[in-house]
Amino acid sequence: MARHLITSAIPYINGIKHLGNLVGSQLPADLYARYLRGRGHEVMFICATDEHGTPAELAAAKAGKPVAEYCAEMHDVQAAIAGGFRLSFDHFGRSSSPQNRALTQHFAKVLADQGLIREVTEKQMYSVTDGRFLPDRYIEGTCPNCGFDSARGDQCDNCTKQLDPVDLINPRSVISGSTDLEMRETKHLFLRQSAMKDKLAAWIDSKTDWPVLSTSIAKKWLFDGEGLQDRGITRDLSWGVPAQFDGAPWQGMEGKVFYVWFDAPIEYIAGTQEWAEKTGGDWARWWRLDQGAGDVTYTQFMGKDNVPFHTLSFPSTILGSAEPWKLVDYIKSFNYLNYDGGQFSTSRGRGVFMDQALGILPSDYWRWWLLSHAPESADAEFTWENFQASVNKDLADVLGNLVSRVTKFCNSKFGTELPAAVVMTERETALMAQFREGLAAYEKAMDEIHVRRAAEELRGLWVLGNEYLQAAAPWSVVKTDEAAARGIIAFALHLIRLYAVLSRPFIPDAAQAIMASLDCEDWAWPEDLDAALTVLPAGHAFTVPENLFRKITDEEREDWAKRFAGRRE
Ligand SMILES: [Zn+2]
Repeated sequence: MARHLITSAIPYINGIKHLGNLVGSQLPADLYARYLRGRGHEVMFICATDEHGTPAELAAAKAGKPVAEYCAEMHDVQAAIAGGFRLSFDHFGRSSSPQNRALTQHFAKVLADQGLIREVTEKQMYSVTDGRFLPDRYIEGTCPNCGFDSARGDQCDNCTKQLDPVDLINPRSVISGSTDLEMRETKHLFLRQSAMKDKLAAWIDSKTDWPVLSTSIAKKWLFDGEGLQDRGITRDLSWGVPAQFDGAPWQGMEGKVFYVWFDAPIEYIAGTQEWAEKTGGDWARWWRLDQGAGDVTYTQFMGKDNVPFHTLSFPSTILGSAEPWKLVDYIKSFNYLNYDGGQFSTSRGRGVFMDQALGILPSDYWRWWLLSHAPESADAEFTWENFQASVNKDLADVLGNLVSRVTKFCNSKFGTELPAAVVMTERETALMAQFREGLAAYEKAMDEIHVRRAAEELRGLWVLGNEYLQAAAPWSVVKTDEAAARGIIAFALHLIRLYAVLSRPFIPDAAQAIMASLDCEDWAWPEDLDAALTVLPAGHAFTVPENLFRKITDEEREDWAKRFAGRRE
């Protein structure tokens, strides 16, 4: 038994995520966590909401709520949806927790003690009316490029030009609308990532087994242009972890907070501390090399946009602290999932969002499609035609149909008890040889976190069962040799139990339904396949399950395609 720490990139708090976000981190992380638990390993699976920063403040203001209240509500909404998708976090934390505040301040202090923090004085837009510095997104004005009158301080949404607030014509505060703005000096803390460059490069170079997507992005940031730059880790905001605190080794940072990208990954550790407080468990044995974390394997899941922060920024924090914290061992990163010829768009309501998905079909349908089409080697695309075909074929025709045929046939001929013990004829022996090979390939794909390949291998195992049933044809055999027909059905029922165990990481609800109908609670991974064919004794009672999956009709497909196409512009 090994010990595995797994974290998913933490979703931002301002709103419900779409299916592309889900398949880019949380869902494959859940697949891997479930698989490792299934194989008997000890797993700690942590996720959280990322709650600090300007977008949370803006979203709360728009909702007319204090930001802390807004975040608490949205955290509960996201937690409920995660539950709906059966994401099996050991803990779903909050980056605004007291644990994260203390730990973020701790890291900032030890980094300063190591000489890795420097103070920088910059000029920034200050709103006299609002009495505060304005982040770029808090400033609007007329775009100097296209004349659009609501361009933001960082970008014009109309012509997409990247802007500086000083570029805007007639700049005004988003908060009050005031135009009484002036440039004032403000002081910020910078993490000296440039001083960590050689250490980081050596560390990345040692990760020869990582996906190219992870290492290539890291190397681009390390070496392109002037190389890795120091990074501002504070902001002039009130919502966040205060940058001035008892024992802070710097002065004059009152009213400033740490930048959200400094504190968010620290929440992986703080989230485990939250878990420990809730359960009485020991967080340090997962994170502190001096307290038992030496034998932990740590895997992170994220979309490609998050790779720089996880290969450079967070490791700078960990390595720079010179304290014995656990560093990530493997970074699994994903490309983007596009939606039907374009991109998912929150503002335009384009694409399927997590709550909407659960409103129209159970989570297993989505889990199966998303994981079997995960954007691993390149961007992938969701289309309703592909979704319908995949659900109807893989889930309904292959797996669902097998379970239904075997249990219904048994019920009609022999009743709802296992009609015999398994008898191994040449046919069953040959099938098991193929199954053994397929299972090994499935396990290899899962061990290596090749998500699409794992789905293919699993589907291949389901197909083997269908082919077996078709060739063995118990409905014909029963007319001349009832004992043989009983043996075939006993074997097929054992295959179905194996499918429940093996499919659980992908489709946990269907797996649960199969096991419930077999009145079985033995979820042990089939390390010994021969022994797995003796789990259900002759005479063991079962019930015929409801259809595991229904088919998606053409009418539904057309209706959904229309409904989620987004507002026309
Ligand atoms: Zn413009």
